Amino acid sequence: MSIQLDTVRAVVLDMDGVLWRGGEPLPGVAEFFVFLTEQGIPFTLATNNSTKTVDAYVERLNNAGVPANPEQIITSAVATADYIAHHYPVDTPVYVIGETGIRRVLAELGYRHDPDNAQVVVVGLDFKVTYDMLKIATLRIRGGADFIGTNGDLTFPMPEGMVPGNGAFLAALQASTDVAPVVIGKPETAMFEVALSRMQTAPEHTLMIGDRLETDILGGQRAGLQTALVLTGITTEEESRTASIQADGVFDDLAALHAAWVSSLKLAV
Ligand SMILES: [Mg+2]
Repeated sequence: MSIQLDTVRAVVLDMDGVLWRGGEPLPGVAEFFVFLTEQGIPFTLATNNSTKTVDAYVERLNNAGVPANPEQIITSAVATADYIAHHYPVDTPVYVIGETGIRRVLAELGYRHDPDNAQVVVVGLDFKVTYDMLKIATLRIRGGADFIGTNGDLTFPMPEGMVPGNGAFLAALQASTDVAPVVIGKPETAMFEVALSRMQTAPEHTLMIGDRLETDILGGQRAGLQTALVLTGITTEEESRTASIQADGVFDDLAALHAAWVSSLKLAV
């Protein structure tokens, strides 16, 4: 299917590799959000990164010239907490590997961090993960605790290159327990369903914009959205042509997508 921008009524955007790369803002970002606002097109920002809080993203977005409030941001930490809230009573003891983003949202919901008695092991990317943490998680999962991962990204982009992502630690724990985790983030559809429901929009009239084929684009397709790949992040131009997952549209950057969208509206008039 090829992309039909003139039919798009709402947008879901990944952030890293789409709005910025490392610390650097990418071209055309502020102008694109002015366009969305002028067109009355709602948007949601959806990231697999579970390390930061929603408030931290609001601040970063506002600094980048993107007008966003907390309801417009879905992290895999938020979606994981939402899943846990729907499946486990509030006093369920949990063991969490992860940074502030996932820890705070679970604590706010009332889940007790209890390494010795955890019935649920939640694993998000943790830059200070230790052998002891993997040991506790392994023992609890082997003892029957449920095993939930915020996201399955095998790698994480850093200025030095690609480094281990949360999926690498999920793989280690799967190897030591013989239990596969329930994974919440993209390409699973949970985050897309939250976004569609918050924006009250139909999937076929919603566009997913992302830089990673196996999460953003595959997940968008599974949830029934139109998909646009931008080449400002993980995926190279060559990969975008040869990969088994193909986006409906491929653009050099958000500015190029913006220009194509404006001309599709002129053609449609
Ligand atoms: Mg990305």
